[in-house]
Amino acid sequence: MIKRGNFNSDNQNSDSIRNHQNIDTIMQILEKHFNYTDRTTLNRMRKDKNKDPFKILISCLLSLRAKDETTEKISKNLFTIADTPQKILTMPLGRLEAIIYSTGHYHKKALTLKHVSRELIERFNGIVPETKEELLSIKGIGPKTANIVLNFAFDKPALPIDTHCHRIPNRLGWINTKYPIETEKVLEQILPKKYWFEFNGIFVLFGKTICLPVSPWCSRCPVRKYCPHIGVIRSR
Ligand code: SF4
Repeated sequence: MIKRGNFNSDNQNSDSIRNHQNIDTIMQILEKHFNYTDRTTLNRMRKDKNKDPFKILISCLLSLRAKDETTEKISKNLFTIADTPQKILTMPLGRLEAIIYSTGHYHKKALTLKHVSRELIERFNGIVPETKEELLSIKGIGPKTANIVLNFAFDKPALPIDTHCHRIPNRLGWINTKYPIETEKVLEQILPKKYWFEFNGIFVLFGKTICLPVSPWCSRCPVRKYCPHIGVIRSR
């Protein structure tokens, strides 16, 4: 049984880091196999030369627990009617809920969109802030969303950690972490910064197609010879 390290964000426990000597090799292989750049709504928005940080923030909030196709469709619909914090804030709650209904958790998401819009107007002049501290100071914006905004909207190095980005580095034996927030801190130490922009896109695609949460396709995996399969009980 593998012992998990106690997480301390100020003084990282070395138990959280396992063997990360093969990171470069694995990243270079994954780069070749997982071209994520046009695969998700947020990645497409990121490539747009006129990208709008507010739209990226709102799409990210809508994408939580929603299918990507739904996020894209609903985001587009919403932005034809309301594409600024002012417009979202003044829109009747019921109308906003009806527009975003199919993304799921529509009542909670509508309240979050309104709260975030109000905070942007009252505290940031209606402009999405560019620092993690400011983003996290807005209720409704968590570490993953803050890092998506920094990375996708402002091209700043940041590591948005979702379930795939947390699970796979643990399976690969790079890290030994229990929670995504811990994974982010440990990866910040061991993952070279040159990979930070692509890490989320590659690992999300990898996790959705090959390194699945349950019964991963290890027989089809391009990095299987480097993987110790930590925590994998059943594979194909
Ligand atoms: S070998 Fe299996 S567990 Fe390891 S990274 Fe590949 S799919 Fe995931």
